[in-house]
Amino acid sequence: MAVSIILGGQWGDEGKGKLIDALAQQATVVVRANGSANAGHTVVTDRGVFKFHLIPSGILNPDCLCVIGAGVVVDPGILLDELGHLQERGFDTSNLRVSGRSHLIMPYHPMLDQAEEQRRGNNMIGTTQRGNGPAYADKAARRGVRAVDIIDAEYLMSVLEPVVEEKNAILTKIYGLPAIDIKELAETYAAYGEQIRPYVADTETLVLDAIEGGQDVLLEGAQAAMLDIDYGTYPYVTSSSPTAAGICQGAGVAPSAVTQVIGVYKAYTTRVGEGTFPTELNDDTGALLRERGIEFGTTTGRPRRTGWFDAVLARHTARLNGISDVALTKFDVLDTLETVRVCVGYELDGERVTAPPARHDVFERLVPIYEDIPGWQSDTTAIESVSDLPTAARRYLSRVEELIGVQVSYVGVGPHRKQLLTDHVTA
Ligand code: IMP
Repeated sequence: MAVSIILGGQWGDEGKGKLIDALAQQATVVVRANGSANAGHTVVTDRGVFKFHLIPSGILNPDCLCVIGAGVVVDPGILLDELGHLQERGFDTSNLRVSGRSHLIMPYHPMLDQAEEQRRGNNMIGTTQRGNGPAYADKAARRGVRAVDIIDAEYLMSVLEPVVEEKNAILTKIYGLPAIDIKELAETYAAYGEQIRPYVADTETLVLDAIEGGQDVLLEGAQAAMLDIDYGTYPYVTSSSPTAAGICQGAGVAPSAVTQVIGVYKAYTTRVGEGTFPTELNDDTGALLRERGIEFGTTTGRPRRTGWFDAVLARHTARLNGISDVALTKFDVLDTLETVRVCVGYELDGERVTAPPARHDVFERLVPIYEDIPGWQSDTTAIESVSDLPTAARRYLSRVEELIGVQVSYVGVGPHRKQLLTDHVTA
C-alpha cells in the first residue's frame, strides 16, 4: 500500500500531470486536493493529447477512482465541459467523484477576479482570472456555495439569497458592473446540480476506506509550493495551500497515512504571472528555454517567464514539504546548452541568504549566486535509462540532487508518457 503526494516544488507548471498520469497506471485512487480551473495539466498519450483543468488526469486509467477533494474549488461549467470532451473521445467518466464539500466558482467570482486585478493596476498579481481568489475568499468568509448545495434546488435558493444580495452591492456599487439575476443564477446552478449529482459524494470517506483497504492512493496538488498562500511569494501567490500539509487537508487524509512525497521540479525554472523570480532570464537563453520547453500557459496561453534552476528554493520547498523523491522534468530542454547554471545561494547587501525572505520587496533585491555546469549538448529524448545519459548530464543531475538534498527518482526527457526515466540517479 502506498499513499503518495505529488506536488510542484517551484511556481507551477512543472509537469505534474505527466507524472501523475504515469503513476496513475498503478494507483487505484487519484485525488485532486486544491486549486480550481486555474490549473492546467497536459498529458500526452498514444490516444492523443489531453488538457485538464479540474479532472485528475488519472481519469485516463479506467480502473482508477478519480476524486475531486473538498479542498478544490470547482467551476461546474468547466467540469461538465471536461467530462463531455472525455465522453466524446470514448472515455468512461463514471469513475469520477466530486466532494459535496468542495466550493463552487459562481459567475461573480471571475467578474470580481478581473475587476480586482484592474483595480490593482501596476500591482496586479497576474491571476488566471478564473475566479479562484474570490471563491477561496468566500469560502474563508463562510459565504461560499458548495457542490452539495446545488443538488437540492430549494436549499440552493436559501444559500444564494444572502450571498447574491451582498455580491450585487459590491459588483454594482464598487465596480460599476451589472448585477446578477438570482433567479437565472439559481436555475443555471440547479441544472448543473442535476448533471453533477451522480458524481457528488463524501469523498473523504471513499479515500479513507481505500487507504484502510490497502489500496494505492495518489494525492495530487495543483499549482506549487512557491505559490502557497502561507509560504509562497506573498502576495504573488494563489489562494490555496499546494503544500504536502495543504494537500492532506484538501484530500481529507491524515499526514500519518502518507508514505511518499514526490516533489516535481523542472530542470530549469518558470513562472507565469507577476512576482519575484531571482533567476529569471530576459535574454536569448530565456527565449530558447521558452521555445524548446513550449512554455505557454495551459490555462491562459500566456508566455511563461523562464530562468535557471534555483536550488535555494528547491531545497527550501523540499524541506517544507518533507519531499522523499524528486521528479526532475523537461530535462531534455537543456540539451543544446553549452553551459547550464544553477543558483546555489543569494546575496543581499553583501550577506549570503539561504532561505526565501518573507517580504516581497526584499526578495526582489536578492542577487543569485550561480554555479556553472558544463552542458552535454546531445539529444536525450530517446534515452531510456539514467545510466545511458551523457556523463555531463549525469553530473548535472547529481549536482541538483546534492543541492536539493533529496534523491532524484524520476527524470523527464520529453512530453510523452514513456519519456520518463525511473532508475535512481545518484552518481
Ligand atoms: P490565481 O490562482 O488564478 O489566483 O493566480 C494567482 C497566481 O498563481 C498567478 O501568478 C497565476 O499565474 C499563478 N497560477 C495559478 N495557477 C497556476 C498554475 O496552474 N500554474 C502556474 N501558475 C499558476
